[in-house]
Order: sequence, then C-alpha cells, then structure tokens
Amino acid sequence: MTTWKSNIRTVVPYTPGEQPKSKVIKLNTNENPYPPSPLVGKVISNIDLDSLRKYPDPTCDILVEALAKYHSVDKSKVFVGVGSDDVLAMSFITFFNSNLPILFPDTTYSFYDVWADLFRIPYEQKLLDDDFKINIDDYSKPCGGIIIPNPNAPTGVAESVEFFEKIVAAHPECVVIIDEAYVDFGSNSCIGLTDKYDNVIVVRTYSKSRSMAGNRIGYAIGNPELIKYLSDCKFSFNSYTMDTITLAAGVASLQDDEYFKARINDVINTREWTKGKLAELGFSFPDSKSNFIFAKHESKDATYIFEELKKKGIYVRHFSKPERIANYLRISIGTDEEMQQLIEALRDIL
Ligand code: PMP
Repeated sequence: MTTWKSNIRTVVPYTPGEQPKSKVIKLNTNENPYPPSPLVGKVISNIDLDSLRKYPDPTCDILVEALAKYHSVDKSKVFVGVGSDDVLAMSFITFFNSNLPILFPDTTYSFYDVWADLFRIPYEQKLLDDDFKINIDDYSKPCGGIIIPNPNAPTGVAESVEFFEKIVAAHPECVVIIDEAYVDFGSNSCIGLTDKYDNVIVVRTYSKSRSMAGNRIGYAIGNPELIKYLSDCKFSFNSYTMDTITLAAGVASLQDDEYFKARINDVINTREWTKGKLAELGFSFPDSKSNFIFAKHESKDATYIFEELKKKGIYVRHFSKPERIANYLRISIGTDEEMQQLIEALRDIL
C-alpha cells in the first residue's frame, strides 16, 4: 500500500561544525577570534525597542545601500540574505534550472552537493589536482552552472581573477557563482567581473572577516537582472529575511573600516606564524589565503590528532569525505594565545 512516506523529500543534510556549550579553544568553524567593531555594539545597544513592533524593511534598503557604497557599485547590483548560506541556496534555486549538470570541485564547501540534492539539480564534481588546484579544462564544457569558492574551502587555495574571468567568459550559457566567503584574508575579489559579464555573481559573508557569524549576514553582487531574479525568488519564499537589529549592525560594521582591516591583518599575521610552527611539527598544507589551514601530518593519523586535541579542549574540523582529505585537519586561525596553545598541545600529542 502507498503511504505518505512515498511523498517525502528525503535529504542527507549538511553537518555544521560542532558548537560546544563549554568553554573550549574553538578552531573548527572558521569564526573570527576577535569581536566585531565596537560601533556594531553601540548600534545594537541603541536600538529603539519600539522599532521591533514592526516588520523589518523587506528590501533591506539601509544595508543594500551601505554595501553598494562600500563596494562602489549601484544598489541594483546588491542582494542581501541571512548569511551567505541563505544567499547561496537562493542562488541555486534561481540560477541552476538547466537539465545539464552544474559543476563544482570534488573537495569544496560541503553544502553545495546538499543544495543540489535538495533542489534536484544534477551536478558533477571535478577533481582538484594533487596540490588542490583547480584544472580549468574541467570547466570548459557546456553546463547548467558553475560554483567555486575563492579561496576554496576547506583547502584555503586561491585562484586569480584572470582564472575566473576565463571561466565566466567561456560560459555565456549559464551563471557562474564565485563564493568569496574568505576573500578578505588575502586574495583578490572578482566583484569587478560583474561590470563586464552578465553571467557572474559574487557571494560574500559577514561571518568570517567581519566577525559577525552570529548575526547571519550574507550578500551577493551581480548585474541588476540577475539580482532581480534572485529577489523574485526570495519574495516567493520569505519576504522578511533579515531583522531590524541585524540590518543596523551590518551597516555599522561597514562604517568602521579601520577596525575591520586591522583585525584582518591580525588574523593573517597569526596564520603565517602558525604555518611556520605547523611545518616544524611535521605538517604539510597548501598555501592558505583564508582564515584556516588545511593540514596533514607526516606520520600521525588525522582522526587521532583530532580526538587528542578534543580531549585537551581544542576543537578543529575533520572531514571523512571525500576519502582523499580524510587525513587532513582544517584548523581555523584563533588569537595568538589560542594558536600558541594549539602548538603546545600538538607538541604533546605528536
Ligand atoms: N561559503 C563557504 C565556502 C563557507 O565555508 C561558509 C561557511 N560555512 C559559507 C559559505 C556560509 O557562511 P555563512 O552562511 O555564515 O555566511
């Protein structure tokens, strides 16, 4: 007999990194170790309580305008959402409606295949080379769309703007999404390509470089026609995506560029220090341009190191799939003190 079970959309969900309740050294979800700008705190504590009676602005105007100004683009080129996960999911629904498969790397953000499965979008994953670089020829055939993070996650490896321009120019038949979640930590943005090509969209987040993962702010920049289609899908799903407090906080962060750049510098300096120490301890890793390092030890197993670090209250991330990365650990960059403690702990363990 047929039951309701035959009508269920079954999915294997994305697994987010653990958020432990106890106080630990948390290097497992690429959060920023520094708080957001004090201006963000000021704006949040000065929120007019009465303003919360009303629904937030569905077009998120203050944030869209501030982002347009910050990036020197027209506001018709900006779309905002509840973290870049929301913006990316909405982009999958909006842009990836071809019968041809979409393309993305085999080792990449592990939400892409989950969205593709959820929305029943066919996809092909293209093998990175042994240095975790992307082979551009893998992206040369007609397809339903392309999504690539730059720098890639969890590898941290960045490609050049010229590299992405070649891909975008070769694919007028589909939309290319460049996920720049980690771009502020030392690689070049492809936002400029959105002036020249109508088939590219760049997605950004406040969660990493702006230290605001808890606020959930993401955005996309693309040509106005793409943004219009994206908005139509959003307004067919949930009009009030971003709350009043978050919109104000998002604007405040953009107003304190000095603080923003200083904290990014801190993270980059700590990352470079950590690379040196990890190499001394027998780790190898691709050259990360993000706020994490993807490292493998010359003799000790990643699962073993992961478990031993956890026993010492240090959380890093371990992915068991795909097989080729099962012996790697993704280590987010914390404060100098946290990274010193990590190195001490690794010395004990190894
Ligand atoms: N893209 C990549 C490559 C990521 O690693 C993440 C973080 N998990 C995201 C997008 C989503 O970030 P958020 O939803 O916090 O903006």
